[in-house]
Amino acid sequence: MSRKPFIAGNWKMNKTIAESVALADELKPMVAGVRDVEIAVCPTFVSLAAVGEAIEGSNIALGGQNTFWKESGAWTCQISPQMLVDAGCKWVIVGHSETRGRFGTVDDELAKLLSYFGECDATVNMKAKYAFEAGLTPIIACGELLSEREAGRTDEVISAQMAIDLDGFTKEQAMRMVIAYEPVWAIGTGQVCDPDEADRVCGLIRAIVKKMHGADVADAVRIQYGGSVNDKNAAELLSKPNIDGALVGGAALKADAFATIIGSAR
Ligand code: PEP
Repeated sequence: MSRKPFIAGNWKMNKTIAESVALADELKPMVAGVRDVEIAVCPTFVSLAAVGEAIEGSNIALGGQNTFWKESGAWTCQISPQMLVDAGCKWVIVGHSETRGRFGTVDDELAKLLSYFGECDATVNMKAKYAFEAGLTPIIACGELLSEREAGRTDEVISAQMAIDLDGFTKEQAMRMVIAYEPVWAIGTGQVCDPDEADRVCGLIRAIVKKMHGADVADAVRIQYGGSVNDKNAAELLSKPNIDGALVGGAALKADAFATIIGSAR
């Protein structure tokens, strides 16, 4: 089965509202003719509405970088999936290593202690389910730490994350979900994962999806690679059979680099 490539830009905690709109305005004409690649940008929460307006009617969709599993109420600093839909979002990233508190660039033990937002696989799963119910589609991120890879535990870590993160979805939800394999040590480090190894882990994820949700879902599900993807290395990564797109951080902040990555997926 052929899966439509999906390139999403995670702008993280970058750019003011005006800068975000300017980046969206710059990107729009560069990718205007692209119909065979799905495109999304995920600005900061405060820029969502303005960027949503800027990309209205274009082939670029809007996504949030995180969400919560309640619709409203006394949950200080949280954003509900309904609010993301209201701001124009179609997508939401859940389980990014930076919200899980799993960092590749600081001491791993410290990162575990910090676990910045109390995120764990159970909360990632709740967020994904609630996002679906609200009409969003989650991009579910997973990935191993450098220490876990060095200890030969990559497959074990990914399997454990997937077993909880992807649990209990309906068939229709599982068909729609997107998974992002993001080795934590590759995020923001310039140290991209070897394309064959990235493809192997994405293949492992597909096999897990098959076991949990069936062969039809495994065939349909899109699995992105994320971790130091740029305009130079994207083509090789995206040529791999189990890699259906990319979740892009740093390189998504430059319109021309992001447009080149999108072009590489065609
Ligand atoms: C990310 O934020 O998901 C990411 C992969 O970042 P970068 O592309 O900068 O490594």
